[in-house]
Amino acid sequence: MTQRIALIGHPVAHSLSPAFQQAALDALGVDARYEAWDLLPEELPMAAERLRSAELLGANVTVPHKQAMLRLVDRPDALVERVGALNTIVRRDGLLHATNTDVSGVLSALEAAGASPRGLRVVLLGAGGAARAVVVAMRVAGATSMVVANRTPERAASLVELGGAAMPVVTCALDERDPALEAAMAAADLVVHSTTLGMTHGPDEHATPVPARLFHPGQVAFDLVYVPERTPFLAAAEAGGARPLGGLAMLVHQGAESFRLWTGYEPPLDVMFGAARAALAARAR
Ligand code: NAP
Repeated sequence: MTQRIALIGHPVAHSLSPAFQQAALDALGVDARYEAWDLLPEELPMAAERLRSAELLGANVTVPHKQAMLRLVDRPDALVERVGALNTIVRRDGLLHATNTDVSGVLSALEAAGASPRGLRVVLLGAGGAARAVVVAMRVAGATSMVVANRTPERAASLVELGGAAMPVVTCALDERDPALEAAMAAADLVVHSTTLGMTHGPDEHATPVPARLFHPGQVAFDLVYVPERTPFLAAAEAGGARPLGGLAMLVHQGAESFRLWTGYEPPLDVMFGAARAALAARAR
C-alpha cells in the first residue's frame, strides 16, 4: 500500500515542501506520496480523522493552522507545549503525536553554518508564530540574552515568558530610529529576521525592517524568509558588513527532521537541498 504524508495549510500551493519531501522519499525508495491539503479552519477536524487511517504516516502543518491543530492531536510533546504550536504530526499506534521541528530546524541551520547560538546576544525582529520557535531554540541552545522588536508591542511582550533567567528577553519598538533598537543591534552577535517583510507576495517585497547602517562586521544575520533567496534584509546585512544566512536551510532542516520521524530513515539532506533549490529557481523564472 502506498503510504501518504499530508501538508496541511492555507494556502499551500506555493510551498517548497512537496518538492523536496517527495524527492527524499523517492531517493530512498519509500513507497509514499507527500501531498498538499489546502484546508479551511472548519475542515481541520475532518483532516485529523483522515490522519488516523493506516495509510497516513503523518503530516506537516503550516500557516495558519499550527495552533488550531493543537487541540486535535492526542500527544503533543514538550516542545509543542513550550512553543504553543506544532508543525509535525506522526501517526503511531493509532494516535496522533505532535512535535515542532522548527526549533531543531533553526538550530541545525545555524550550526551547519558554523553559527551556534551558545553564548550569543540575539536580536529577534518579528514576534509571530515562527518567532516563538526561534525564542525556544535560542534558549535551548544557550544564547545569553535576547531583544525582541515587533510592530505590535503586545505580541513582542508575549514572547518574554519564553525566555527565563538563563536567557532574559526584553522588547523594543521595531523602528530603526528607536535608540533601544540601535543599541540592541550594536550589541548583537546574531540578528534573526522573522517578519514577512521582503518576502515574495508578502506585505512589502522590497522592505527590510533594519537598514545597513545598523549592522556591523562580525555579526551573523539570519533571515527566516526563503523566497526570494536573497532578501532585502540579507542585502542590508551584507552591505553593513554582517554575514548573511538565508532561510532555505531552516526550511530543509525542519523538513528533514519531520522526514526522520515519519519514515525512521536518515534524511538525504543533499537530495532535499537540491530539490528545494530547483523548485525555488523554477519559481523565480
Ligand atoms: P506570522 O505569524 O504571520 O507573523 C508575521 C510577523 O511579521 C509578525 O511579527 C508581524 O508583525 C510582522 N509583519 C507583518 N507585516 C508587517 C509589516 N508591514 N511591517 C512590520 N512587520 C510586519 O508569520 P510567521 O509564521 O511567524 O512567519 C514569518 C516569516 O518566517 C514568513 O516569511 C515565513 O515564510 C518565514 N518562515 C520561515 C521558515 C523556514 O523554515 N525558513 C519557517 C517558518 C516561517 P505584527 O505582530 O505587528 O503583525
